[in-house]
Amino acid sequence: MARYIFITGGVVSSLGKGLTAAALGALLQARGYTVRLRKLDPYLNVDPGTMSPFEHGEVFVTDDGAETDLDLGHYERFTGVAARRTDSVSAGRIYANVLEKERRGDYLGKTIQVIPHVTNEIKDWLTIGEDEVDFMLCEIGGTVGDIEGLPFYEAIRQFAQERPRGGSLFMHLTLLPYIRAAGELKTKPTQHSVKEMRSIGLQPDILVCRSEHPIPQTQRDKLALFCNVRPEAVIASYDLDSIYKAPLAYHREGLDAAVLDAFGIAPAPKPDLSRWLDVAERIDNPEGEVRIAVVGKYTQLEDAYKSIAEALTHGGLANRVRVKAEWIDSEIFEREDPTPWLEGFHAILVPGGFGERGTEGKIRAARFAREHGIPYFGICLGMQVAVIEAARNLAGIANAGSEEFDHEAGEKRFTPVIYHLKEWVQGETKIERRPEDAKGGTMRLGAYKAILKEGSRAHRIYGTTEISERHRHRYEVDTKYKDALEEKGLVFSGMSPDGKLPEIVEIPDHPWFIGVQFHPELKSKPFEPHPLFADFIRAAVRQSRLV
Ligand code: GLN
Repeated sequence: MARYIFITGGVVSSLGKGLTAAALGALLQARGYTVRLRKLDPYLNVDPGTMSPFEHGEVFVTDDGAETDLDLGHYERFTGVAARRTDSVSAGRIYANVLEKERRGDYLGKTIQVIPHVTNEIKDWLTIGEDEVDFMLCEIGGTVGDIEGLPFYEAIRQFAQERPRGGSLFMHLTLLPYIRAAGELKTKPTQHSVKEMRSIGLQPDILVCRSEHPIPQTQRDKLALFCNVRPEAVIASYDLDSIYKAPLAYHREGLDAAVLDAFGIAPAPKPDLSRWLDVAERIDNPEGEVRIAVVGKYTQLEDAYKSIAEALTHGGLANRVRVKAEWIDSEIFEREDPTPWLEGFHAILVPGGFGERGTEGKIRAARFAREHGIPYFGICLGMQVAVIEAARNLAGIANAGSEEFDHEAGEKRFTPVIYHLKEWVQGETKIERRPEDAKGGTMRLGAYKAILKEGSRAHRIYGTTEISERHRHRYEVDTKYKDALEEKGLVFSGMSPDGKLPEIVEIPDHPWFIGVQFHPELKSKPFEPHPLFADFIRAAVRQSRLV
């Protein structure tokens, strides 16, 4: 039976609960334990799949095809444990389950209430897979006091109460504001936040306090006294120059020791932090810098391409260089010549995206990269625009485009080299879709295998001919144009195992030009950079020596 660690937040949002949970997971692993991390989101969407990236940042996709919260990306990047569909749940999903059971008559005519029906549904969800790991870390989204969060807090209270003593722990993340005029860090908001928790029956065992200044012992003692925690369980959390230093920083502050102590685990197993020491050493000692242009649509919000940004950093760690990624709105290239914008960059990446807006600009960016021999990495829509570009400018299909754009516009304007996929196989299962299907959860989602062409660049990079990567898209490159495009130098170097769906295209006669239909960024880790990102940055380093 796993021990449970519940992570809640107070005072303000955006304190980094997800990162803290992820770093703690990494520290418990360093002490030899197995972990699984989970996110409970109080919003009413059934999953984040239908939310705009502007709303909630990137949608993180799991191997088993769930569209989840971006915090699951942090969990994976820090622990290397592949997240599953059951590691993310929203209030919307919980209510949907309860209402479905009610309609089926499962509750035998009872009145359905938040307690016990909704809370039971949450508790059942919490226990999924609990026998597989030593520690289950569950983060509750939002801040204590939010109306939507109440059923979740009530459920974890009941859960801890019903389990054997010492089986659960509550960790609360807060902010200590600094009042410059008084020269003091203030503990009152934290005291209030803990009071709020206690009013719903939850007593934190550990307080993690975000602060821009060192927390003096007097303030720690005060927090311990007023919030009813042990002084050693008041853990400081300071801003770091890299998120990947969080495990080491939390270890220095005694977070993992406090957690093991709270569970009564003594003596605590010694930690092996070598993985994180190596990462920190690489961060601190770069031997150069490369500039990468990321040409996309959701450029105003950093979190919209979270995994891309992180995977680029990992590629930098693999090559011991700092990666400076600059986000450029592709619509600019629909009005202006991309040359002055792009010529100083060492490589260009076009990430995934939905809808037609900005795609002509992305097509121009792909053309610029192809014609100027600048390393180009196209991911999902970034691959599709590279294919459209090659179809138009190499294969002579002047009005090549994607069915996605026509569907959106409601009229036929393009020769679709990218078409809407209506049936495909996942493992043994045949999946069918129609254009009029509901939006949520109906894409080609999750892990699919691909077979790589012997001797291709993709094969050399992966070092194998069979790979598995995560997908999230509705449209596919049409193999009808494969021969015409290959003749002009765009090679289809990765295909689905049945040979029907193009997974990777590349231009062998170019310093580095690869488009992938999947999302390699989702599987990259600082201690295990994704091979495509590592090689892309290697190409950028080569390019930086030329310019
Ligand atoms: N919009 C494209 C599709 O649905 C690409 C999706 C993506 O980039 N994730 O196929």
